[in-house]
Amino acid sequence: MTTTHDQLPADAAQFVLDTFLALVRIDSLSGDEGAVAERLRGYLKDAGCQVWSDPAGNLLARRAGQGAGSTLPPLLLSAHMDTVEPGHGIQPRIVDGVVRSDGTTILGADDKAGVAAILTALRQTNGKGSSCCPVEVAFSVQEEVGLIGAKHLDLTQLASKTAIVMDSAGPVGSIVARAPSQDTMTIEITGQASHAGVAPEQGVSAVVVAARAIAGMRLGRIDPETTANIGVIRGGMATNIIPAHVTMRGEARSLDEGRLKAQTAHMRECFETAAHELGAKVDFWVERSYASINLSPDSAVVRRVSRAMAAIGVEASLISTGGGSDANIFMGAGIETANLGFGMMRPHSVDEHIAVADLRQAALILTAILSDPQG
Ligand SMILES: [Zn+2]
Repeated sequence: MTTTHDQLPADAAQFVLDTFLALVRIDSLSGDEGAVAERLRGYLKDAGCQVWSDPAGNLLARRAGQGAGSTLPPLLLSAHMDTVEPGHGIQPRIVDGVVRSDGTTILGADDKAGVAAILTALRQTNGKGSSCCPVEVAFSVQEEVGLIGAKHLDLTQLASKTAIVMDSAGPVGSIVARAPSQDTMTIEITGQASHAGVAPEQGVSAVVVAARAIAGMRLGRIDPETTANIGVIRGGMATNIIPAHVTMRGEARSLDEGRLKAQTAHMRECFETAAHELGAKVDFWVERSYASINLSPDSAVVRRVSRAMAAIGVEASLISTGGGSDANIFMGAGIETANLGFGMMRPHSVDEHIAVADLRQAALILTAILSDPQG
């Protein structure tokens, strides 16, 4: 018999806040998640999980189903352990019910609020008298630097075909229904070096080729679903040398696969045309960074999350985002994934904050999802 409450019990309300504050005090910049992983290992064991880590450093866990939930299929819960700069020595403080940093660092609610919510839900659904579906947990590394942990996660270790990721900046109740796929590009232009004062006629400037290509390129907001950027450009040696090499890095994203392909092709064409006109050579590499998300309102995971939210008086709302997350990787691997918003505000800035009430709602929503007898 499962009962759902519309509020966390007092001890759990304290636990989620204490856990969140403890986690943000542990530095865990991307690539340096070891200390926080070690702490999380303890929390997961306390919640009855079997815990292991993979060669990439991701922390994984599983727990059998409990009570009436035992026969349900497993559900994967995921959040990332790493944070962005400036993230050393975070000193959280609570002002008027809102957790903030001291203003010199980020807070790390992205994504330790998600981690704390997951730990609290596991704690609330553990032990005698609980009903809970079988659970798998993936706390990933290096999400912020290109979803690296999730990309290296061996998903054959996990049985779940459904996942909840806690990593959206939307308000409590939001479910990311649409997120873009992304192409990442590296472009190398090779011209011809020559003395700029003595024999400029013999040179082909890779800088001029790059400039002409970019000047004719559609960048920024392409349409409501598509964006593009050239974010890095490097080249040249000295003022008296016609530059022979320029390297650039860029990206395009779209919620629509056809538009993404068209934008990437357009960017390639701009470089190739400019190189051809000016007698240079261009190499253009493109890598699909992650697949898009397109969740139907009727999908099982959206219905499951919405039902759990409704049970505690939270209205579900489907949102669209321009950002990628580990959810894109899981979706691309065939795991139906809902990335939930839980009120983290202004992530990746020193103004990052989250209301204590929202942190508690996040834990309550996850608890309701885990203990939903319909699974
Ligand atoms: Zn995040």
